[in-house]
Amino acid sequence: MIPTDANKLTSLLLDQSSEMLLAVDAATLAIVAANQRVSDMLGYAHSDLIGRPITELECALADVFYWEEVRAGGGEVEDVEGLYACADGSTLPVMKTVRRVVCEDCDVLLLRVRDERSLKRAETNLAELAAQLRATLESIWEGILVTDAEGRIVNMNRRFSAMWEIPGDILVQDSDAVMAWLSSQLADPESAVLGANPAAEDGSDQFDLVELRNGRVFEQRSRLQTMRDQVIGRVYSFHDITERIVSEREATLARERAEVANRAKSEFLAMMSHEIRTPMNGVIGVTQLLLDTELDAEQREFAETIRSSGDALLTIINDILDFSKIEAHKLTLEKIDFNLMTLMESFADLYALRAAEKQLDYAWSLSPETPALLRGDPGRLRQILTNLVGNAIKFTARGEIGVAIEVRSTTDHDAELYFAVSDTGIGIPADRLEAIFLPFEQADRSMTRKYGGTGLGLAISAQLAEMMGGEIGVESREGYGSTFWFTARLERQPAAARNALLPGEEQMPRLAGNRILVVDDNDHNRRLLHDILSRWSFQVVSAADAETAMHVIEAAARVGRPFQLALVDARLPGMDGEALGRWLRDHPKLAETRLVLMTRVGQRADARRLAENGFAGHLSKPVKRALLIDCLLRVFKKETGAARAESRSAGSVRNRTARILLAEDNKINQVVAIAMLKKLGLANVDIAQDGQEALAMAANVPYDLILMDCLMPNMDGYQATHELRRRGVNLPILAITANAMAEDVDRCLAAGMNDYLAKPINYELLTAAMDKWLPPAEGGASG
Ligand code: ADP
Repeated sequence: MIPTDANKLTSLLLDQSSEMLLAVDAATLAIVAANQRVSDMLGYAHSDLIGRPITELECALADVFYWEEVRAGGGEVEDVEGLYACADGSTLPVMKTVRRVVCEDCDVLLLRVRDERSLKRAETNLAELAAQLRATLESIWEGILVTDAEGRIVNMNRRFSAMWEIPGDILVQDSDAVMAWLSSQLADPESAVLGANPAAEDGSDQFDLVELRNGRVFEQRSRLQTMRDQVIGRVYSFHDITERIVSEREATLARERAEVANRAKSEFLAMMSHEIRTPMNGVIGVTQLLLDTELDAEQREFAETIRSSGDALLTIINDILDFSKIEAHKLTLEKIDFNLMTLMESFADLYALRAAEKQLDYAWSLSPETPALLRGDPGRLRQILTNLVGNAIKFTARGEIGVAIEVRSTTDHDAELYFAVSDTGIGIPADRLEAIFLPFEQADRSMTRKYGGTGLGLAISAQLAEMMGGEIGVESREGYGSTFWFTARLERQPAAARNALLPGEEQMPRLAGNRILVVDDNDHNRRLLHDILSRWSFQVVSAADAETAMHVIEAAARVGRPFQLALVDARLPGMDGEALGRWLRDHPKLAETRLVLMTRVGQRADARRLAENGFAGHLSKPVKRALLIDCLLRVFKKETGAARAESRSAGSVRNRTARILLAEDNKINQVVAIAMLKKLGLANVDIAQDGQEALAMAANVPYDLILMDCLMPNMDGYQATHELRRRGVNLPILAITANAMAEDVDRCLAAGMNDYLAKPINYELLTAAMDKWLPPAEGGASG
């Protein structure tokens, strides 16, 4: 139902207003009308309000003056602050607007009064929020810049202005001025300050690196700023990464420098290697040639001294070069097939003699399960043994040196071998046991050391063992001797690989089953002989002294299973070898047992005395299989000789008419090489002074082989070989290189050479190379 009285409807409407509405008589200032809101807000009953002077409600001091003014006829105001007194005595801050309405019968003032508190609160909240946002912006660690959609700057934090070092007077100017400053700071004036397109609306985040003129580098990221789906600008954050970039650049620079230095070091090494070996080649090679000429005793002694000093110097140089190569990670291991037995035998050839020179025994053994056909780097294996056995001999005055080889573990594919080199020498103090494996360290650190040396041998050996997947160690008691040991993991040759038989070895199965007695007090020798003979299927019994041997021989004869052969060491504790021989000779019943005497290497046995004492033959220790085969075949009287004759003649089939071209610029090296070739019966040698000359000569003369120095003026050996191969020349070309680094060898082979010889040229290796690469003379193979 709608009230019909229009006044009532109006007053209902007025009561709904959120403002207090008052009408005041302009003349008396008494309130003549008020809406419901006035009673609600101030707490007076409506009846209390009507007739009350408005000045009783308006209680601010300013209001008093105001109403005086109104009474005087002025008075319209708009949104003026004021204070109203409430019925409960409190006051209410308000905002009021006053209008004066004058008509014929009235003169009233109409007041619209708003509660000021909620407005104040909203304003305060807004201000707080703004302050909070500002504080957040300022406490961000990154520089923040905000632009509007047109790319004009609308906000930034202090960190940003500090990062870009924007001066105060520019900061207070407009966006264009600041932008101009930013541009002026860029290292690359061409680039845009805020990336390619600051106003791009493609929504994607952008990332840039900004480099300033002052060297600082910022990471700049930006993201579109939207409000109610409208793009209103972009927010940029700048992160200073100068330190990181600088340290990255420094690291790169350091790495590059280290690489350059390393390269320079290995080039220097290669160069030194070349420079040192070339004159050493002259010294050692020519001395060797000199020793082959007629010399009186004194001259010979001098020449021998030069040679041994040269050898010693070369060893030291090689040690230092090796060590530097290992340090520079330049040393690589070869992987070739080799026979451990053969390696140990040829090693014993040299070191048994060296030991014998100091009246020391040298013996070696390997356990029966040890695989002999291996694949690895026999040269480096030998180098470790050379170091350890060389030391053992050096530091031992009397007694013996032994090398024992065992197998630690084995698979079809590889085997872990254990080598122990023991001596009866001076030993090593306990507190020096670890240090001696470090480079340049020696057990005796005094300046008056009795033994020479560089202190590098063990350090190199340790590295080599490690490269072979093994380790090295020592047990020692001062005054009682030392045992140096190392392990190495070596591949086994595939089961299919056949070991080339030694001359005469193919006849061993025919002798299998014969009974042999080994009499030796040295464990290594007994074990070695036992192992070799067992591998050929002989029946072997060992005895450590003559007395035991006599018992065993007699007992065997008694049961009708006499020994066909006894291998007897010359020096036995108690009754010696020769006495044992005489005893056997004097027992005709035991005559079936033949005797062979074993003596220390270098001791020539007197054949007549041997025969008188009942010995059928003689072997020097450590026993080598090839010689043992010879001896066995002779003793068992089935020697055919053919096999050996064949092997012996291998070298003699060399084609003495072969034409050889030697490309070498160094005079000394020319002399040495020609003399060595002459010794081999190869006199037909031409010389080219450099690669170019070699090319020209090879084009005109049908050579059988070329020896090619690697480094020569005009055209080096690599280039020359490359060119020869390109022209289709396919005769053997052997490099002579003073650079013993693995990559140099690779380079030789890559250039098309067939093989290489290291300087100083070694006579044995040259012989082997000629045997291998020179075609046999026509019809020579049969003779
Ligand atoms: P070098 O023998 O050239 O001095 P090494 O590295 O081969 O260098 O040996 C280091 C040191 O270890 C030797 O100087 C020596 O003091 C000690 N040493 C090595 N082998 C033996 C050994 N068999 N007996 C006693 N001392 C040894």
